[in-house]
Amino acid sequence: MIRHMIPKRICSIDFALIGPMEIRNLSTSKVITADTYDDDGFPIPMGLMDMHLGVIEPGLRCKTCNRKLDECPGHFGHIDFAMPVIHSGYSKVIKDVLSSTCSDCSRLLLPQERIDHYTSLLEKIHESEAGTTVTMQEHIRRAIREAVKAKTCPHCTEAQIKLTLDKPTTFREEGRKLTPKEVRSRLEKIPAGDLRTLGFNPETTRPEYMVLTVLPVPPVSVRPSITLESGERSEDDLTHKLVDVLRINQRLRENRDAGAPQLIVEDLWELLQYHVTTYFDNQTAGIPTARHRSGRPLKTIIQRLKGKEGRFRSNLSGKRVNFSARTVITPDPYLSINQVGVPEMAARELTVPVRTNIHNLQFMKWLMKENFDPSDPERYIPGINYMIRPDGRRVKLTDENWEFNLERLEPGFIVERHLMDGDIVLFNRQPSLHRMSMMAHEVRIMKGKTFRINLCVCPPYNADFDGDEMNLHVVQSEEARAEARILMRVQEHIRSPRFGGAVIGAIHDHITGMFLLTHGDASYDRDQTVRILSRIDYHGALPKPAYPKATGGPKWSGRQIFSALLPDDMNLEFNASVYFPERSVEENDDLDTIVEIRNGEMLRGPVDGRSISAFKGIILEEISRLKGPSAAREFIDLVTRLAVGALMETGCTTGIDDEDIPPEAILQIEDAMQGAMKGVNKLVTSYNKGNLESMPGRSLEETLEVEVMKKLGQARDKAGDIAGWHLGMDNFAVIMARSGARGSMLNLSQMAGSIGQQAVRGERISRGYEKRTLSHFNQGDLGAAAKGFVRSSYKHGLSPTEYFFHSMGGREGLVDTAVRTSRSGYMQRRLVNALEDLRVKYDGTVRNTANTVIQFSYGEDAVDPTRSKFGEGIDANDIVEAVAGGGK
Ligand SMILES: [Mg+2]
Ligand SMILES: [Zn+2]
Ligand SMILES: [Zn+2]
Repeated sequence: MIRHMIPKRICSIDFALIGPMEIRNLSTSKVITADTYDDDGFPIPMGLMDMHLGVIEPGLRCKTCNRKLDECPGHFGHIDFAMPVIHSGYSKVIKDVLSSTCSDCSRLLLPQERIDHYTSLLEKIHESEAGTTVTMQEHIRRAIREAVKAKTCPHCTEAQIKLTLDKPTTFREEGRKLTPKEVRSRLEKIPAGDLRTLGFNPETTRPEYMVLTVLPVPPVSVRPSITLESGERSEDDLTHKLVDVLRINQRLRENRDAGAPQLIVEDLWELLQYHVTTYFDNQTAGIPTARHRSGRPLKTIIQRLKGKEGRFRSNLSGKRVNFSARTVITPDPYLSINQVGVPEMAARELTVPVRTNIHNLQFMKWLMKENFDPSDPERYIPGINYMIRPDGRRVKLTDENWEFNLERLEPGFIVERHLMDGDIVLFNRQPSLHRMSMMAHEVRIMKGKTFRINLCVCPPYNADFDGDEMNLHVVQSEEARAEARILMRVQEHIRSPRFGGAVIGAIHDHITGMFLLTHGDASYDRDQTVRILSRIDYHGALPKPAYPKATGGPKWSGRQIFSALLPDDMNLEFNASVYFPERSVEENDDLDTIVEIRNGEMLRGPVDGRSISAFKGIILEEISRLKGPSAAREFIDLVTRLAVGALMETGCTTGIDDEDIPPEAILQIEDAMQGAMKGVNKLVTSYNKGNLESMPGRSLEETLEVEVMKKLGQARDKAGDIAGWHLGMDNFAVIMARSGARGSMLNLSQMAGSIGQQAVRGERISRGYEKRTLSHFNQGDLGAAAKGFVRSSYKHGLSPTEYFFHSMGGREGLVDTAVRTSRSGYMQRRLVNALEDLRVKYDGTVRNTANTVIQFSYGEDAVDPTRSKFGEGIDANDIVEAVAGGGK
């Protein structure tokens, strides 16, 4: 159907300069007066608002196309210059052309055979179509560079004078100024044969087009005037600028015709040049910006297009759209990761167009009726905002007209229905840095005023709930809905294209909950087991209890409950997050830190971050890779519910007393610290005495720094170890850190033991006063405390000097993040612009739009990372195990 609407197919586009003839042909009106409206408010003929250029007032008709406002596209006019003017945007090109051509005969300053050489070179590239414009530009630049070097003309032997450009538009030859008229007449004389070598296509473009004799005047619709409340007219900046151009042009013509002194004519000419230059670009370097009487700089053509607020980046690349909503997000663990909770208020504004047919007509009529005459005001029933008749007329439904329109609704009408459960929408959080920043969700209409999402989708969006807002877009066509559902749904993005693992998976409380459910010999009585299983909609019979003879009745292990989520053919063995790498396998086995799954039955080990978390979870990775997106989505949803269920049975809390350590531990830490201090002092003394031996490739000072840092690092770790030793797995803070839910053992040891060395730019703190960091220390003190070592813990509190050093380190972190985000944002922009047109073709090569091969094999290994196992194309272990038949 669409094909019939295309009258012609475009096969190529040529870009060229627009010449004076073309500008005049395009023009509907010559503009000669600087006035815009007469006393009655009508546009003055041959003025800037001439009705031939289009109309901006309702009721008037365009004199060119006889159409009204909104229907008339607007038409160009033109201004004839009294004297030619340089186009400031091309002054560099003009300079190149002038200095590579003869000042007398205007031939290219190259011997004929060189010209022929370059011409054939360029022709060859042009014919082969293989070359990009970049290689053509390279040859042209080379030809110009060669020509500029010529001292005399090879054609007429005239000696050449060096040409200079005073930015933006003044050309000089040894100080003598060239008038635009002279420039133009030189450009006019260049023969067509030489132009190709200079990069011009003489069939479409002549170089003298870069010196303007006529200026196109944009249609009024491009520069509409606005009527203020006071009835006053306010003109667009472009119109203001054109008024300036016209005034000066008029004076220049009068003075020239009256035979005024050369000096006056030249001044006016220069002024005209200034106005034309600022009309194009009001931020041209080297000339003052044109301003309003108020002092505000005028916004002229370049300013409209350029930069973040310009037409391209603000109105074309990212424009505001209808059918979208934005509000704060809040969490809801009972939603599926595929869903998004939408407030009723937003759902009643966002609509989906539905074409009525005999099957849905009654339903649509019911919706229409419910909208204006609800049978149950408490219940959300989607309504209808607009009705679009087959002739294309949109009718807004109101309290007055709905009954009338209800009667008229028939198959073929399109109605714009409110959102309802199950509709597919796009959901997005800025900055949109990767494809998972915009995913498709299914709508769940909810009370309240926030969007609700499952916590597992926080990592791909990089969202949290400290006031983050997100955008929602309602897709409007069947094709868009199908694409969104098939390609963009959250479950299709569980596996990351970056590293071949899950980016969507259990986080925070989900991990704590699953760990508490499954660790050690955690077990639950019949009531508890049923309660927990009911959260995952478990319909099977209870398994045989793991502890049938427990006191108080049979008990089921948490692992049994978790096994309900596992596929029957799953066989895995791996080390959990809580695994102690420094201890032996046997010890770890005793401590229950090794996970073993046989035939979908969890035999030992706890479920923690290593099993189910985003980024690292092995069980999650296995399910999403082998069982597909739907299974992975279900697994994540159920793990969330199970974790909440487990937490409801066991509870979990943490507080500052989780970092309490017994007095003997404090003494041990104190000892370790004293020892380290002594060690540092010894190093400093031997350095001062000159006994310290420098490390290979390092100065004495560097050696001291390295040794001291090493010593203090060891002390901090020792303190951490001592603290950690006294903080057991019965401590919720430790459980969270070790299971991979939140925080680390380093965080805990900094709270309980010692904070450690503070660094600025990767070194001990050294700047401050003369030869010391603070006036609290002696000059030249190289000891630990004087250079930013914080031996206190967060819980104990910091001494004033420690606090100061800690603030220095902290400040660096803040500055770093601020600098990094702005810099990486710009880097991302450049990268996207450079790579956006590359694609992987069906033959596995990566090519750009010119079909040039960028990579012969995608990623040089042709592995799609989303389908890989953490980047590896083939999982060798899995294959061996499958062939060997599992088991040990
Ligand atoms: Mg936030
Ligand atoms: Zn018109
Ligand atoms: Zn010459």
